Amino acid sequence: MERLQKVLAQAGVASRRKSEALILDGKVKVNGVVVTELGTKVSNADRVEVEGVELVKESYVYYLLYKPRGVISTVDDEKGRKTVLDLFPHVEERIFPVGRLDYDTSGIIIMTNDGDFSYLMTHPKFGIKKKYVAKVKGIPNREALKKLERGIDLEDGKTAPAQVKMRTVDKKTGTALIEITIHEGKNRQVRRMFDAIGCPVQKLRRESFAMLTTHGLNAGESRELTTHEVKQLR
Ligand code: URA
Repeated sequence: MERLQKVLAQAGVASRRKSEALILDGKVKVNGVVVTELGTKVSNADRVEVEGVELVKESYVYYLLYKPRGVISTVDDEKGRKTVLDLFPHVEERIFPVGRLDYDTSGIIIMTNDGDFSYLMTHPKFGIKKKYVAKVKGIPNREALKKLERGIDLEDGKTAPAQVKMRTVDKKTGTALIEITIHEGKNRQVRRMFDAIGCPVQKLRRESFAMLTTHGLNAGESRELTTHEVKQLR
């Protein structure tokens, strides 16, 4: 069951605020009856009409995208850059990315039209783990890695404990590949954490999201999540 104004907004009738106004103005019917209560909840089985036109319900869709670098993870961009939505030219549903990856970050991102699902996947209280692989300038010592694990004081708060593993070290170039698993999603969090230990990120890839990986996909490719995967994530 969802609140009526949310159902209208999700169906693309109008923004949440304007949908509320439509309800208050008596322009919305549920199963043939005018409804003016904003709290009214409706299910998929209810017939909703707006100004006499029946709402076509979108069913929920879920995709796993291997986002390449150089693509922005919003549905439009005022600077006209390529967005994740451009990678789904044949999808008709109004999908959006679950959380964000920086323009220069590659890796796994889920796309859906299910707002509740997106909330469950992104709110830190649900603790969904995201594993990143960072190529960093400099070779952090044990103490620096411990700092990342314990939490870094960023200007918007201390990061929660993380799992950190040194993968490889390249002494010639003075760089290291490091795995870091976090369950928060502060803006540019991984980059800022490495900045704080003096090892700026040169390349960043999200390797996994909960139990999902980009296995079998090339950058720019996507696939639908299976029903089983969606159930596992919820
Ligand atoms: N942390 C970052 O710094 N960038 C991302 O894209 C994701 C997490």
